[in-house]
Amino acid sequence: MIIKGGTTITADGPRPADVIVEESTITAVTEPGQATGAGPIIDATGLWVLPGAVDAHTHFGMPLGSGVSSLGWQESSAAALLGGTTTIIDFANPTVGEPLPEAVSKWRGMADGVILCDYGLHVTVTDVSGDRLAEIPALVEQGLPTFKGFLAYKGRLMLSLVEMKRLMEAVHQAGAMLLVHAEDGEMNAAAERVLLDTGRTAPCWHPLAHPDESEVKAVAEILDLATVTGCPLTIVHMSLGQSLELLKKTRNTQGRDGKLFGEVCLHHLFADAGLYESGHEAALAAICSPPLRTEGNGDELLSGLVAGHLDLLSTDHCEFPLTVKSAAAGGGFPRVPNGCGGVAERMVVSHSLAVVTGKMDPARWIETCCHRPAELMGLASRKGQMAPGFDADIVLFDPLAEYRWDPLGSSDRAGSLWAGLPVTGRVRDVWLRGRQVVAGGKLTGDQPGGEFLPRHL
Ligand SMILES: [Zn+2]
Repeated sequence: MIIKGGTTITADGPRPADVIVEESTITAVTEPGQATGAGPIIDATGLWVLPGAVDAHTHFGMPLGSGVSSLGWQESSAAALLGGTTTIIDFANPTVGEPLPEAVSKWRGMADGVILCDYGLHVTVTDVSGDRLAEIPALVEQGLPTFKGFLAYKGRLMLSLVEMKRLMEAVHQAGAMLLVHAEDGEMNAAAERVLLDTGRTAPCWHPLAHPDESEVKAVAEILDLATVTGCPLTIVHMSLGQSLELLKKTRNTQGRDGKLFGEVCLHHLFADAGLYESGHEAALAAICSPPLRTEGNGDELLSGLVAGHLDLLSTDHCEFPLTVKSAAAGGGFPRVPNGCGGVAERMVVSHSLAVVTGKMDPARWIETCCHRPAELMGLASRKGQMAPGFDADIVLFDPLAEYRWDPLGSSDRAGSLWAGLPVTGRVRDVWLRGRQVVAGGKLTGDQPGGEFLPRHL
């Protein structure tokens, strides 16, 4: 197959090029008109020819609180493909006392044969007793080199600082990386208690149970622990300008550049706490942790992402139907499952609100959404780049087309978080390992099925 007449985006910016694909692999990227070979010719005139995007942080089939993540593995991965994302990294979440390898088998069992895009798994660790830490090296060998720990969610997922330090030592020793949810579980629990004791249980109160100081404190603590232990660290879903400043400072002063990374998620860049005040449904859709923050934080985070102080633009996609969130809300905001959608919207929304507005150049956009997540998460040789030898995961993106909200056609998507934003552009066609999975903005039904991707840092 030859994709002709389009514009690719390299580290130097957009450039016209033809792309040759043989079987499941990109074999050449040539000057326009220079491509030769057999097979169908795809006319990409006027279109951007992008590498399939990589989302380093999703929760597709998450059993949580009162429901499961709305769309599940199949539907969420369909949304990913329709949004131009061909690879995601989700999580294996062990139950209390469950050995980590068993959790991995269980979560692979849910995804394999169902998921439509390629995927890897981070392994969540909520317990450092028993054999849990000793199980880490074998998992790294098997292609699971990234683990996740929580300073948030007291009584459920939270590790104390002492436990977190032990986890970081084990992860570091195994040559792996730790991802951390940095909010202070004690501080959040105390704030939540005050709100509930005073009858403030409606969804609009959710952000007050996650004060800014809680994230800032946890970010400072985890950066200290990373410095002490030497463990490579990605702080996920950083939501405050203040958190970014702490990361910047530690990178500069501790000589830890290259081992400390920051992730920002779509909703913290382009949505803000105003949604909690704009009606019951909007507030419900916006219930996620850390919560949406006051206006201004998004701009600071975007500037940090553009300047390279943050590394990844992910989604933390964890989408529950509005009906599920609404039913749970009767028991007070703490019962509402946390999470927002975004995997269908990440590329178009970030293109419209960062690239079209001139805040981010196209090369950096592709770096933060495709290349860098693949590189940081151990997929550097296969995913995230339009170059010979890489998987033929290719997206034809029409930057001028009108965007069609809700590509899955569901009326109950909490993804409506994004509706109403000034968004243009459309993912037109997508190939996964050389097979066309989206044509004209619709699933072809010719899904090869997603593959589990062993990763190596
Ligand atoms: Zn998450």
